[in-house]
Amino acid sequence: MKIVILDGYTENPGDLSWEGFEKLGDLTVYDRTSEDLIEERIKGAEIVLTNKTPLKRDVIEKSSMKYIGVLATGFNVVDVVAAKEKGIAVTNIPTYGTAAVAQFAIALLLELCHHVGHHNAEVQKGRWSESLDFCFWDYPLIELEGKTMGIIGFGRIGQATAKIAIALGMKVLAYDEYVNKDLETENIKYVSLDELLANSDAISLHAPLTATTEGVINKANIAKMKEGVLIINTSRGPLIVEEDLKDALNSGKVGAAAVDVVSVEPIRKDNPLLGVKNCIITPHIAWATKEARGRLMDIAVNNLTSFLSGKPINVVN
Ligand code: NAD
Repeated sequence: MKIVILDGYTENPGDLSWEGFEKLGDLTVYDRTSEDLIEERIKGAEIVLTNKTPLKRDVIEKSSMKYIGVLATGFNVVDVVAAKEKGIAVTNIPTYGTAAVAQFAIALLLELCHHVGHHNAEVQKGRWSESLDFCFWDYPLIELEGKTMGIIGFGRIGQATAKIAIALGMKVLAYDEYVNKDLETENIKYVSLDELLANSDAISLHAPLTATTEGVINKANIAKMKEGVLIINTSRGPLIVEEDLKDALNSGKVGAAAVDVVSVEPIRKDNPLLGVKNCIITPHIAWATKEARGRLMDIAVNNLTSFLSGKPINVVN
């Protein structure tokens, strides 16, 4: 049985093993596959794994695939309706990176509070040895104890982020389409979006990209926020209207922002947030700890094993 992985590099750049798949069939792994090569590479393959390489209707209809395993949670890269019509099972990885993404969201928050990377770079450049005082700092240093964290999207990652924020002494205001009162505690309160915007010192985005969340951080909503609010985005880039955030960072209305995701990825050279003061950008790495990728690999292998044994799991179509 021929198994093809179309874009394995981000999941396993060499620090994990594909052994689990090798045991299940004749495996070929490509680091990445451009759209013009997809058809040729999946020829004769019954099992195809993809992370971000699209599998569209025309390719699906001509193929011999029986199973498509998506190496991610979001499966919008596959035309699942076309796959269903052809009797192809499509699976995803429902959750693997909750701890990693929550940890990263807080890492970004702490970076905005202390600018560790910047201060280290300045010290390495020799500024400390030339300093007249025993210390120097270039940004306002912020303590989180007693401050309020607003979390938009209070699902798995939102809740895990709240737990760490509370450990830092913060209070949490949560906004979600679905309110689960059981999650409320002395430190966690569900509020409306407007209440969250008005009362949070830091706002972290953890909702999926949908028609209702797209552009939620826009000019009108930023105007409702506290002066100097901090904004963190580890969910999806289009939740933020980047031009509006840029203006708010330049005016000081938003004190600082840190984003792991942007509107178009990889980031375009003309992205409005590039070069903006008080904006930190990381290249969509919140998910990518070795531990989380290892978990993703184990679940992907288990998905295929279950399918081959006639008891498919995590099927999305
Ligand atoms: P989840 O499904 O457990 O939680 C999402 C929450 O958002 C749910 O509680 C849902 O009710 C809520 N929600 C949906 N629509 C909403 C709306 N309009 N307003 C407010 N809340 C709304 O998902 P999760 O595992 O916590 O992941 C959250 C998001 O994190 C994912 O959708 C994904 O975009 C992002 N993510 C990013 C990375 C990364 O590497 N940066 C990795 C994994 C996930």
